[in-house]
Amino acid sequence: MCVYLISPIELWQTTKRDDMNVLFHVDSRSGQGFVLNPTTEEVITPLVKQYIKSYRDLPVSLYQMNNKFRDELRAKSGILRGREFMMKDAYSFHESQEDLQAYYDIVTETYFRIFRTLGLGDQTVLTFASGGDFSKYSHEFQTVCPIGEDTIYRCGKCNVAVNKEIIGEQQTCPSCDSPELIEQRGVEVGNIFQLGNRFTTAFDLTFRDRDGREQHPVMGCYGIGPSRTMGTIVELSHDERGIKWPKSVAPFDAHMVVLGKEKELLDRADDYYHQLQGKGQDVVIDDRDNVSNGEKLATADLLGVPTRIVVSKRLGSQNVEVKDRHEENAQIVSFNDYLNR
Ligand SMILES: [Zn+2]
Repeated sequence: MCVYLISPIELWQTTKRDDMNVLFHVDSRSGQGFVLNPTTEEVITPLVKQYIKSYRDLPVSLYQMNNKFRDELRAKSGILRGREFMMKDAYSFHESQEDLQAYYDIVTETYFRIFRTLGLGDQTVLTFASGGDFSKYSHEFQTVCPIGEDTIYRCGKCNVAVNKEIIGEQQTCPSCDSPELIEQRGVEVGNIFQLGNRFTTAFDLTFRDRDGREQHPVMGCYGIGPSRTMGTIVELSHDERGIKWPKSVAPFDAHMVVLGKEKELLDRADDYYHQLQGKGQDVVIDDRDNVSNGEKLATADLLGVPTRIVVSKRLGSQNVEVKDRHEENAQIVSFNDYLNR
């Protein structure tokens, strides 16, 4: 689906969120007011209203992945907090609180699976935060990281935490009641909220329930910030030479470095490149002729593709040097052996 990046100010007046201080305002030549969307409850709810008539039309869930905008006073930390950022946001609409809760629990588990796939599973904790209009808490997915902007108190017994914002009212773990809470820094890589019927009431989105009565659906929203998550992965997976991408999110499987300019060598590298592609490997090849060998190797470390493959005359005509970015030692192997691993 496609949802607009910009929306009329009237939608935000409807929910009384037009005075949020992070809103970027845009005025047209004729004086109409618009907003660069920081989130899109105000766009999705009236959109869904066109399609919902009965409980049979529920539940419904929509998602999108596009840029969002927040007028941060202090944009900082590169892509961890920018005024424009990528966000995956999803919204669900339900006939009952029980149905919303069941879906919310599935999303919680799914988000953990996503963060595990991204290599952040061990460091990411479900964090109780204040806010949310309906339930006592909203939930953040906080990745423990020294440069994180949030202070969280992580339970020493189970895998949840409490955001500092609410620690005043919550002195024990909200999940297991343990008083053993450890202070850590976290980056908020995702969040999920139960919104009740705040937005469906504001836009008068109703459905006819099983008893024939008009009701406002309850709503949940679910966000992951891919650009911020990418920055967090790099913060947690790098060394002094550059990035060490986990395989699951690396932009390429292998980075082939050609050390030399001889035609025979370049032809051989090209042949290897195509053979690897034929095996489904996504390979980037560095055969630049205007930089030194040292610079090519440094570039490979900086970009952090998981496997580096060196093609060089000194290795012999059948061999390549293979090095895992996460390990120190390289191996010299015959290309055919490597290809058939
Ligand atoms: Zn606990």
